[in-house]
Amino acid sequence: MEPIDLRSDTVTRPTAAMREAMLRAEVGDDVFGEDPTVNALEERLAGLFGKEAGLFCPSGTMANQIAIHVHTRPGDEVVCDEGSHVYRYESGGTMANSGCSVHLIQGDRGRFTAAQVADALNDPTADWLARTRLVVIENTCNRGGGAVWDLTEVDRIRTLADARGLHMHLDGARIFNAMAVTGEAPGTWGSRFNTLSVCLSKGLGAPAGSLLLGDSVTIAEARRVRKRMGGGMRQVGVLAAAGLHALQHHVARLPDDHARAARLAVALDLLPWVKGVLPPVTNILVIQLASGIDATRMRSLFMERGVLVSVLGPDRLRLVTHLDVDDDAVERVIDILQDIEP
Ligand SMILES: *Cc1c(COP(=O)(O)O)cnc(C)c1O
Repeated sequence: MEPIDLRSDTVTRPTAAMREAMLRAEVGDDVFGEDPTVNALEERLAGLFGKEAGLFCPSGTMANQIAIHVHTRPGDEVVCDEGSHVYRYESGGTMANSGCSVHLIQGDRGRFTAAQVADALNDPTADWLARTRLVVIENTCNRGGGAVWDLTEVDRIRTLADARGLHMHLDGARIFNAMAVTGEAPGTWGSRFNTLSVCLSKGLGAPAGSLLLGDSVTIAEARRVRKRMGGGMRQVGVLAAAGLHALQHHVARLPDDHARAARLAVALDLLPWVKGVLPPVTNILVIQLASGIDATRMRSLFMERGVLVSVLGPDRLRLVTHLDVDDDAVERVIDILQDIEP
């Protein structure tokens, strides 16, 4: 039997209907701005989030890195959570691509407060300190087990950012998961940030692609940076078509993924080798293992039995539900893990 893959929501494969949409896509050279499907996707998502323009990027990493690049100058400082994707999982890109230092905040499952941001800001009159320029918020928070931000705190941070002349970028790789929980409209998030990145290849199930959204001047500059980084693609409407299909068909189903993560959490929390779980709010479940239980060894034991998970730390595992994991698969995972004796 095929393994049940809970390593990430990036592992989804395009559905038959999505492949049909890709097959039918009208295409053109997107570097010339002539791919109608890419243009439609950029307009669609920008409009949805209330931004002027969008830019289709090969990956979420590139969308974030372009954003950081357009907001900063070398030597500037970026404020973000210590577990944030832009700091931890983009191969040092913030430092390498933009020459920025980072000020890391110890958040609560990836969420921090305006007071913590205020503490993190360098005095702009002290010319020996790096110029704080950008605050990056991630929603949902990947390393925080899919935690969702409270808009009230985002608003406090926005007020502070306005007072201090800072820009704000949302790493919204899983923003649709967050909105599925809170019921907030995309425009609510769009209006709080200078730029947003939104991922089509996570929970939405497209094979690739992320969009960077912002005002037209910023996105025009971002287009130049995308080309410079080697991210200008040609007849990429085939991928944009998958994204448009995902937006139409895979957003409303996200609560199913969340319910399945919750079901896993309840069952797995009872196992003797589990110390506890970070209560899942969205589609990411983080398991804290009992003392003496090694995460890498557990991953191997699971793998032998056809369940794939990822290691988050020496005593932590991550399980992610997604489009290719149905209720039956969840029950099978529970049966299999219940039988494991470490
Ligand atoms: C996956 C992810 C990204 C982008 O990752 P890519 O694999 O480069 O598309 C960005 N931010 C967060 C929080 C993510 O989980």
